[in-house]
Amino acid sequence: MGVLQDKVAVVTGANSGIGRATAALFVAEGATVVVCGRRTTANEQVVQELRVAGGRALAVQADVSAATDCRRVVDATVEAFGRIDVLVNNAGIGDRHMPIDECSEDWFDTVVRTDQYSVYYMTKYVLEHMVGAGSGSIVNVSSIGAGGVAGIAYSAAKAAVNAMTKNVAIRYAATGIRCNAVAPGPTPTPLNGPEAAAAFHAEFAEMCARHIDVTLPTASAQDQAQAICWFASDASRSVTGQVLYVDHGTSLY
Ligand code: NDP
Repeated sequence: MGVLQDKVAVVTGANSGIGRATAALFVAEGATVVVCGRRTTANEQVVQELRVAGGRALAVQADVSAATDCRRVVDATVEAFGRIDVLVNNAGIGDRHMPIDECSEDWFDTVVRTDQYSVYYMTKYVLEHMVGAGSGSIVNVSSIGAGGVAGIAYSAAKAAVNAMTKNVAIRYAATGIRCNAVAPGPTPTPLNGPEAAAAFHAEFAEMCARHIDVTLPTASAQDQAQAICWFASDASRSVTGQVLYVDHGTSLY
């Protein structure tokens, strides 16, 4: 029996990278997974893979920077499976390492809406169901960038994610609902692959790199998924409000 046996989980950004690895691990651990992302074909492909692996899965196309889409994901999940036990707020975009002087107002807005507002919307709507059930686990995917070692928008959004993690944990500590975060270090995915890196503000990315140890090994998407799965499962039942850095110590100094 898996550690997520019979749990219903929503994983945002599950068609790629860390979210995809998380969806695969969740299914292997017995969960039903709702795969959410903007790209319909990519969502459907992952759902097919999960079904071939013997899992139960559903694709729901959504842009999680929009409140109405987040509401639709939650409604579709409850309609299909009757409840939500686990929410993984994983969807996100990088911000090209834009420093404040180079980051336009529009780009700041786009990044913060995607990486921060999405967590507020999804968590708020899922909680309506978790409160009724008296249990649930919310896992936010933060970043070592929360410490300021990314562009201005991404750093701000991920720091806010850490604060929201603790704030939600405090609000529901006396109930069976927990909220924690995994903060990945550099992890090979399309988010920071060669195509993405070509658009980075090279000078500021180099300045940020001086403040972390980039010579250490990188974690894999599967490493991040393992940490997310532990927070999602009852194995971490007495843990809430925590941010777990999965980065080989990259951000320790
Ligand atoms: P990927 O680019 O591989 O995956 C990002 C996922 O988010 C995709 O599934 C994408 O799907 C989805 N997504 C992006 N924007 C939206 C949106 N507006 N609405 C719905 N879905 C969206 O990146 P990672 O797997 O690396 O990133 C996952 C998380 O990990 C992010 O929160 C990221 O900030 C964090 N992280 C990653 C690190 C790394 O080094 N890779 C380091 C630190 C943190 P679609 O395009 O179809 O919408």
